Amino acid sequence: MECRKGYNAIDYFRIIAAVLVVAVHTAPLEDISGTADFILCGIIARLAVPFFFMTSGFFLFKGGAEDNRRLAAFIKRTAVLYGGAVLLYLPVNIYNGYFNQEKPVLNILKDIVFNGTMYHLWYLPAAITGSLIAWFLVKKTGTGRTLAVSLLLYAVGLFGDGYYGVIEGVPAIKHLYDGMFCLFDYTRNGIFLAPVFFVMGAAVSGHKKLPVKFCLPGFIICLTGMIGEGLFISSRNWQRHTSMYVMLVPCMFFLFSALCGIRGKRKLILSRAAMIIYIIHPAAIVAVRLMAKLLHAEEWFVENSLIHFVTVLILSAGAAMGILYIIQLKKVQAAFNKAAETDRAWMEIDLENLKHNVKQLQEIMPEGCRLMAVVKADAYGHGAVRVSGCLNKAGICNFAVATIDEGIELRRKRVKGRILVLGHTDISRAAQLRGRGLVQTITDLEYARQLNACGMDIETEIKLDTGMHRSGLNAEDIESIIKIFSLKHIKVTGIYSHLCAADSHGKEDVEFTRRQISLYFDVLEVLKERGISVPGTHIQSSYGLLNYPEIKCDYARIGIAMYGVLSSKSDSTRVCVDLRPVMAVKARIVQIRNIKAGETVGYGRTFLAGKDSRIAVISIGYADGIPRELSGGNEYVIIHGKRALVIGRICMDVMEADITEIEEAAVGDTVTVIGKDGEEFISAEDMAAGAGTITNELLSRMGKRLKKRYI
Ligand SMILES: *Cc1c(COP(=O)(O)O)cnc(C)c1O
Repeated sequence: MECRKGYNAIDYFRIIAAVLVVAVHTAPLEDISGTADFILCGIIARLAVPFFFMTSGFFLFKGGAEDNRRLAAFIKRTAVLYGGAVLLYLPVNIYNGYFNQEKPVLNILKDIVFNGTMYHLWYLPAAITGSLIAWFLVKKTGTGRTLAVSLLLYAVGLFGDGYYGVIEGVPAIKHLYDGMFCLFDYTRNGIFLAPVFFVMGAAVSGHKKLPVKFCLPGFIICLTGMIGEGLFISSRNWQRHTSMYVMLVPCMFFLFSALCGIRGKRKLILSRAAMIIYIIHPAAIVAVRLMAKLLHAEEWFVENSLIHFVTVLILSAGAAMGILYIIQLKKVQAAFNKAAETDRAWMEIDLENLKHNVKQLQEIMPEGCRLMAVVKADAYGHGAVRVSGCLNKAGICNFAVATIDEGIELRRKRVKGRILVLGHTDISRAAQLRGRGLVQTITDLEYARQLNACGMDIETEIKLDTGMHRSGLNAEDIESIIKIFSLKHIKVTGIYSHLCAADSHGKEDVEFTRRQISLYFDVLEVLKERGISVPGTHIQSSYGLLNYPEIKCDYARIGIAMYGVLSSKSDSTRVCVDLRPVMAVKARIVQIRNIKAGETVGYGRTFLAGKDSRIAVISIGYADGIPRELSGGNEYVIIHGKRALVIGRICMDVMEADITEIEEAAVGDTVTVIGKDGEEFISAEDMAAGAGTITNELLSRMGKRLKKRYI
C-alpha cells in the first residue's frame, strides 16, 4: 500500500493561484512594461480562478453527484464565507459611497448574486451558481453532456468578455449582450465561466489520470497558445474584459491533470491560507495605501508597482498565518474547555510530544534505518488511529500491530504505509490479510506452508528466535528458513528477531544480547551466501535502539520510547534522548467531605484518619486503568499544583485523596493523576513503579472509559 498519497500539488498550487490573484489587483509589472504586465495579469493570472473552480469540482464530485448533502454542505460553506467577506468589506463599501448609488436595492441585489459587493468577491457567488448548475446537469444528463452544455455557456460568455469586439459589429447580438449586462456587469460569472471548470474538475476526478509527462507539455503548449491568443485579441481591441480565452479551457485541463498526477502528503493548511489571502488581499491593499499615506512613502509603496505588490502579498500572507494560528488555538482551547467542563476523567494525548520523540529517536538511528512505529494495544493506550494518523503526517510509513484486527482498524481509518502484524493470524483470515494489504509474521515452517496453500500472494516477514524462546523460527534451523523463501505465494519482505534483555546492563545480559545480535546477523550472512536477497531487517525495539544504537538494520521497531517514557524508572540507557511523555491522565473532584480523627475511609477501612481531615472524592478508579495495587499510602495526585496523598483502597470508579492542606480545592477541580501541574509532576514511571509493573503495562491498560483529548 502506497504511503502518503494525497493531492498535495493542488494544495501548493492554490498558493500560486492566490498570488496570481493578488497580482491581478496590484499590477506588479506595470512600471517595467505594460505588455509584460498584461501577459502576467491579463493572461497567465487568469488561470487562478478557474483553478479554484476546478479544485472545488474535483473534490465535490468525488464519488459522483448522488448525495445532494455534499452539494448543500459545499454551498453552505461558500455562503458563510461569502457572508463573512461581505461584512468584512462593509466599511470599505461605506467609505466608497457604495450605498449612495442609484437604485441601491436592485443594484446591491445584483451584486450579491452576480458581481460581488467588492470587486474580487464575484468568485464566491459564482462558485455557488456554478456548482449548482454543474451538479444538476451532471445528475440529469451525465458528465459528458454537461461538459458540452457548459462549453456552450462558456462560448456565450466569451463573446461578452475577450471576444466582445467580434459581436459589436452585429447590432442584434450586441443588444442581446447589452441586455444581459443590465443584469450583471460581466459574463465571467457563475453561469458562463464557472460550470465548465466544475465539470472538468468532476471529469478529472472520475477518470484514470493522464500521466504527468504528457500533461505538462500539453499545458505549456496551451499556455503559449493562450498568450498568443491574448496578445492577438488585445491588439484588435476586442476585449471587454480579460477573464475568458478559448485556450483557457485546454490549458486548465492539462494543468489540473498534471497537478493531480503529483501526489504526496496533503497540505490543507496551504489551501486554507490561499483562501484567506484571496478574501483579504483587497483589505491589505487598503491598509498598504493607508500606511504609505501616513508615512509619506507613497512613492515607494503605492507608485512602485512591484514593491506595492510584494508589500500587499506579505501583509496578506502574514494576516493569513495569524488567522490560521488563532483558529487552531481556539479549536484546541474549545476541546479542552469542553473536557474541563464535563468529563469525569480523561486522557490528554500530546501529539506534539509524540512527533518530538519520533524526531529524537530518528536522530540516533543509523543512516538508512527507518522507524517502525509499534502501535499495538491501541498504541499503548494512546489511541492507535489518531497516533498513526499523526505519524503518517510526520512521514512515518511503517507500523507494527499485534493482531490482524488492529491492522484492519488502521486500514479502515485510512492509515497509510506498511503494517506488520507481529502476532499469530489464523489461516482462515488469509484473504483479509491480502485484501487489507497487511504483512503477516511467519513463526514456523508449517504455518508458512499452510498460508502458502491458501493460494494467495501474501506479504510476510520471517521472525527468528535468537534466544528469547518466545515465538519465531529457530535461528539455527537454516534449512527451514530457506524453505520459506521458496514457497510460491509467500512474499517475504522482512526478517526480524527480538531482544529479550536489551534493557539490562548486567554483564551476562549484555553478553547474551550480543550473542542474539550476532546470531541474527549470521543467519543473514548465510542467506546471502545461499543466493537469497535478504529482505528488510530489524532487531531493535526501544531498548535495543537506546542501548545498542550501533546496530545497522533497515528498521527499528519502537514502542514505549515513542510514547515518551521508559519501561521503568530505574532504567538507564547508553544513549540519552530527550523523551517527553505523550499521555497525561486527569480526573475531577466530585465531592469533598470532612472526617474526624479516628474515622476510616473506604473499603476494608484501611485508612484511619490521625487528625480531622478534608477528603476529596475523585472520579477515576481501577476500571479506568489506575492499578488497585496503588492503594496503600504511596500514591499521590496533583491538585492546584500541590501533591495530595491517595488514601484508602482505590475503587472501581473512584478514589479518594487527602486535601486537608489544599484549602483552595473545590468540587469540579481538575486532578492530575499522571502528568504535570505547576511545579509538580507524576510520571507514568512513578505510577508503574508504585504498582510493581512497567509503564508498558500501565499505559496499555488505561481504560476505554477515559475520553481522549488530542493536543
Ligand atoms: C511490542 C514489541 C516491540 C516494541 O517494544 P518497545 O519496548 O515498546 O519498544 C517491538 N517488537 C516486538 C516484537 C514487540 O512485540
